[in-house]
Amino acid sequence: MADTFILWLLLVAAGGFTWWRFYRLLRPMKRAARAARFDQPLRRLAGVARALGLHERLLKIRYSGILHAMIFVSFIALTTSIVESFGSVLFPGFSLGPIGGTTWIALLQDIFALVMLAGVVLAAFQRYVLRPARFRGSNAIDATIIYVLIVTIVVSMIFEATFGILAGKAGADWRPVSHALAYALSPLRLSGEQAATAVTVFYWLHVTSILAFLIYIPGSKHRHMFLAAPNIYFRSLKPKGMLPRAAPDKPPAPVASVEQFTWKDMLDAYACTECGRCQAACPAYAAGLPLSPKLLITDIRDHLIDAGDTPLIGGVIREETLWACTTCHACMEACPVHIEHVPKIVDMRRYLVEEGKIAPMLQEALSNLQRTGNSMGSATRMRARWTKGLPFKIKDARKEPVDILWFVGDFASYDPRVQDVTRKVAMLLNEADVDFGILYEAEQNSGNDVHRVGEEGLFEMLALRNIETISGCSFNRIMTTDPHSLNALAQEYRAFGAVYEVMHYASFLLELIETGRLKLKAEARGKVTYHDPCYLGRYNGGFDAPRALIERAGYRLAEMPRCRENSFCCGAGGGQIWSDDSGVEERPSENRIKEALSLEGARYFVVSCPKDKVMYAAAVQSLGAEDAIEVVDLADLIARALAH
Ligand code: SF4
Ligand code: SF4
Repeated sequence: MADTFILWLLLVAAGGFTWWRFYRLLRPMKRAARAARFDQPLRRLAGVARALGLHERLLKIRYSGILHAMIFVSFIALTTSIVESFGSVLFPGFSLGPIGGTTWIALLQDIFALVMLAGVVLAAFQRYVLRPARFRGSNAIDATIIYVLIVTIVVSMIFEATFGILAGKAGADWRPVSHALAYALSPLRLSGEQAATAVTVFYWLHVTSILAFLIYIPGSKHRHMFLAAPNIYFRSLKPKGMLPRAAPDKPPAPVASVEQFTWKDMLDAYACTECGRCQAACPAYAAGLPLSPKLLITDIRDHLIDAGDTPLIGGVIREETLWACTTCHACMEACPVHIEHVPKIVDMRRYLVEEGKIAPMLQEALSNLQRTGNSMGSATRMRARWTKGLPFKIKDARKEPVDILWFVGDFASYDPRVQDVTRKVAMLLNEADVDFGILYEAEQNSGNDVHRVGEEGLFEMLALRNIETISGCSFNRIMTTDPHSLNALAQEYRAFGAVYEVMHYASFLLELIETGRLKLKAEARGKVTYHDPCYLGRYNGGFDAPRALIERAGYRLAEMPRCRENSFCCGAGGGQIWSDDSGVEERPSENRIKEALSLEGARYFVVSCPKDKVMYAAAVQSLGAEDAIEVVDLADLIARALAH
C-alpha cells in the first residue's frame, strides 16, 4: 500500500514537472506567426512512417542509422516493461501475464534490453572514440547523461528479473538473459530474503530512473524522441524551390527576433537532434565560413528558451553567418527530422536587407539588377549580343509565335566565358529544326537568387516584369539554360499566378535525341564525371536527363562520391556569386574539383549550369589542374557527338 502511494506521488510529481517543462518550452509557439501545415494529413502521416519506419535519411550514415534503429525499436519494445513496472504497483492486480507478460513479452524484453545496450555502446563508441567532425559543437554532456539514464533503466530491469529468479519468483522461464545472469550470480548463494531485497532495490532504481529520464527530456536534445514525429508530420509539402509564404497574396515578412518566427520554425528548433548531418553537408561550413546549419538551429533554440537581452541577429547569430549560406538545400536534404534551415536564413536576411546591412559587392549587384535587370549592370540592348556570331537569326518571341520560348538567363547571355556554350545550345536547337525564340532585351534576371538574398521587393519587380513579357508571347513550352531561372519560372512565379511548363535544356536535348530530331554518332568517347547543380537536382529533381545525355553522347559516367541529392554546391548560389570570398579557407568549387580529381581517368568535369562553368573553370585553374581535367558543358558533349 505504501509502495502504491509513493509511486503515485512520484509519478504525479514527475509527470507534472515534465509537463511544466514542456509547456514552458512550447509556450512561445502559441504566440508565433502562422504556418499553414494542416493540409493533406494522409500524405503527412505516410512521410512520418517512411522517415521513422525505414529510417530513410538516418541510414545514409549507416553506422549511425543502425544504432538509432536499434535504440528506437528497443525503446518501443521496452515500453511493455515500463507499463508492467508502473501498472503492477499503481493498480494492484494489474498484470501483462494474460497477454504474454510471462512468455513472449518477457522474451522480447530480455532480447531488446540487450539490443538497447548494444545500441548505446555503439552510440558511445561513435561519440567518444570515432568522434565524427559533424559532432563538433554538439552537447556531449547531454548525450552522456542520456546514455547513463538508459543504461540504468535497462540494467535495473534485467537485474530486477535476475534477482526475482534467485528469489524463486515464478514467471521468468522466458527470460534467457536473466536466467544466464542468475546462473552467473548463483555462487553468491543469496538467501531468498536477500534476493527479494535486491528485487525491491532494482525495482525502485528502474522506476525512478524512468521518471528522471522523463523529467530530463524536455531540457535535452533528446526531446526529439517526442518531437521528431510531429516535426516530420508538419514538414513543408510545397515544392522545394518555393520559399514559404503565409498566404499567396502576402509576401514573406522579415524576421528580426525569435518571436517573429512561425510555430513550425520553433518546433524545428526544438526537434533538432544535434546529429550534425546538416553541418557535414554544408559547403559554407566546409569552406571555413562562420556558418554551421546545426549551430544556427541550436542557437535559435537556445535563444527561444532564454532570450535575454542579446538581439537575435547581430548578437546570437552573426550577420556573416546569414550571408555565408548558398541556399544549396544540402542541410535540409540531410536532416533526419526535416528541419527547414534555408527559409529561416532567408527570413533573417530580409531583415538585414530592410536595414541596409548588405556588403558593398552585393549592394552593387542589387542596384544593377534594379537599374538594368541584370546583376552585371550591362546595358539591356547587350543581352542578346551573343546571337551575333550565329549563322542564323533567332526569332523574337515577343513578335512571333514560337513552339519553345528559351529563357536564356543572365550568365548565359552576358558572360563571355559562357556565351560560347549558349551559342552551342542555339546551334543544337537549330540543327533539330526546333521552332524557338528568345525575349531579347525584354528578358530580366529571373530573381531566384534575389529572392534568396532577401530582397523581396526587387524579386517581385523582376518576376512581374518577366511574367508581363511572357504573357505577351505565344508559345507552348519554356526552356531555360539556367537552373536558377528554372526554379524561379517553374516554382516561384506560381505565387503570382504564373504557371508554366518549364524544362531545363538537358531534358529538352534528351527529348530531341529520343525523338530522332538530333542524331548522334555511336562512338565510345571515354570517362567523364558530372556535377549536379543544386537548383536543377536537389530543388527540381533533374538528376536523370543529364546522365542520360552523357551516355547518349558516348561517354562513361564516373560518379563522384557526393552526387545526385548529396551533390556538393559550387558555392555560387543564394547570392554568393555577388559576394567576395573573404574568410574562405577552401572554395567549395575547389573542394569539388579535388573530389573529381580523385576519380580515376575522368577527363571531363561536365556541368549543366552557366554559373558552374565559370566557377569550376576558375577552380581548375587555381588548382593548376588544367592538364588533368577540363570543365565542359553538356551542350559541348552533344555538339561533339553530332552525327555529321
Ligand atoms: S543551404 Fe547549403 S550553404 Fe546554406 S546552410 Fe544549408 S547546407 Fe549550408
Ligand atoms: S538540423 Fe537536422 S541535421 Fe542538423 S543537427 Fe539538427 S537534426 Fe541533425
